[in-house]
Amino acid sequence: MSADSLTPMRVYKITNPEDSLLLRTRSSKIKANPNNPNIKHFVSRLFATVRDSVSLGVGIAAPQVGILKNIIWVQRFDKENIPFEVYLNPKITKYSKNKQSVREGCLSIPNRSDVLNCRSHQIEIEYDTMENEHKQETIEAFTAVIFQHEIDHLNGILYLDHLEKEIQEAKTLKD
Ligand SMILES: [Zn+2]
Repeated sequence: MSADSLTPMRVYKITNPEDSLLLRTRSSKIKANPNNPNIKHFVSRLFATVRDSVSLGVGIAAPQVGILKNIIWVQRFDKENIPFEVYLNPKITKYSKNKQSVREGCLSIPNRSDVLNCRSHQIEIEYDTMENEHKQETIEAFTAVIFQHEIDHLNGILYLDHLEKEIQEAKTLKD
């Protein structure tokens, strides 16, 4: 890898109005193509960004560095040695009714973390790999939360949106 492909990118933050606008934008409908050298280079830099000592996230989505492409990195807590893996054009095709409560943070939302109760315990996903394969997989538990969080980013959705919805729903129940 060239030195440049190891250079982290700037992570967009909701505390900056211009960044926030982009974080709220849905990613391109055009599929990310693994054979494109620009995509390969970008995927390396996105990995360098999530592993950057100032970030140290468990996942990242391309829009978080200002690139509206359907690419995410996810740390697989359900695999041995918890590897990071990259997914192109990921989609959730099925959500379990069964939910889990997990504390979430986000590289784009500084200085806070919150417990969400709305994430599905199990999801089914479809994606493309850098080896140009199309795959389907069932994901559970914490890793399923990371996928839901990162795929939300591709749709311009932040975990705070779910939190707000949960708070509203709780209020409605009380009234
Ligand atoms: Zn995030």
